[in-house]
Amino acid sequence: MTSAADDGIKCIYCKCTEFTEDQNLGSRWAKCRNCGVSQPVECKDISIRGEMLYSHYEKYLGEGLASRFPKIEGADEVAFIRQHIEGPLDMKIIDLGTAAGDFLPSLRELGHDIMGIDKFRPYAAYGEKHALPIHHTSIEELLEEGSANSVDLISIREAIYYVDDLKLFFENVKKLLKPGGHLYIKTGVADSFYYRFMRGDAHKRVGEFATLMLDPQVLKGILVKEGFSVVAVRKIGLNSNIVVFGYDLARGNAFVRFCGKCINAVFRKLTVITNTADRVCILARI
Ligand SMILES: [Zn+2]
Repeated sequence: MTSAADDGIKCIYCKCTEFTEDQNLGSRWAKCRNCGVSQPVECKDISIRGEMLYSHYEKYLGEGLASRFPKIEGADEVAFIRQHIEGPLDMKIIDLGTAAGDFLPSLRELGHDIMGIDKFRPYAAYGEKHALPIHHTSIEELLEEGSANSVDLISIREAIYYVDDLKLFFENVKKLLKPGGHLYIKTGVADSFYYRFMRGDAHKRVGEFATLMLDPQVLKGILVKEGFSVVAVRKIGLNSNIVVFGYDLARGNAFVRFCGKCINAVFRKLTVITNTADRVCILARI
């Protein structure tokens, strides 16, 4: 089944124009025949996506951000990183798309020079208020300011599917990293059961402004192609956010929630048995 690029969409990574249907993510997604990256059939302009992302943040966080207290996330992920990096760990670290900086306190275990960056300006003010090093900048701006070859570890958590150009993303990451530096990616994966059996359309989970989805094999292949060696991969099963036929079981009554937990348990087992995942954490070294 081929849906050729008669509408002119180009792969966000390899720039190929040949796509096939995406069996997992729904009819609004297509998979690049060349590199395997999935992307929306209707490719939105960068400026429109930027506005959508901004208004999404404003809607969900606008006032909430002011009253929100920092959370600490990802201690288990930091333990995973520690486990696989040899030598001294006092690293210079940048967390891309850091949002409210929930990963930053955990990253302090790995180094003293830590910066979270985000394109949503209010997060920087939030960081200032809560003594979190969040900056309103981009990887491109950091490179322009002379930060090339200066970073030991770059992390990007659940945000790689919002990049504007995946090829450029890896090029910039490589410029920013020191030789031997590490890239840590945590991401939802395109071949998760979640999309095939629960949500018919991946946009409903990752937003209308998502630009791509990757499955673990595709992501590993791209990392290798970009000159990284994959150090370690950790698979994560479904969380408790179970949606069946568009109905969120977490919002139901006690019996419905109980059913949701049972379904969740079955899918967790299935991810183990079939060696699949809902999300993966990948640590790679350049
Ligand atoms: Zn491609």
